[in-house]
Amino acid sequence: MPLNIEFDLRAEGIAQTDPFLDRYELEQMFDSTRRSIGAGLRRNFADVICNEHEQAPKFKVSGVYDNNTEEMDIQYHVDTCCQVFLLRVMQILNRRA
Ligand SMILES: [Zn+2]
Repeated sequence: MPLNIEFDLRAEGIAQTDPFLDRYELEQMFDSTRRSIGAGLRRNFADVICNEHEQAPKFKVSGVYDNNTEEMDIQYHVDTCCQVFLLRVMQILNRRA
């Protein structure tokens, strides 16, 4: 079963005159972020489904690159069929962090 992973990656703030990452490099960083996070989630959740409802978790990964601080902030949002399974998914997610 393919894992449902949605990405929302964007940049915020005004780019500095001599930015650490230009627009092209930023897109490359977003691409590699999608690839590495996607691969990690697929590896960790390959066989993880809810025992009761037989549903896989859904992930939404939000990433904001701040042009001022030149740092990337990543957040995981998890959607599951029930609370019990959400706790199990969070445990797996926190273990790999
Ligand atoms: Zn469930």
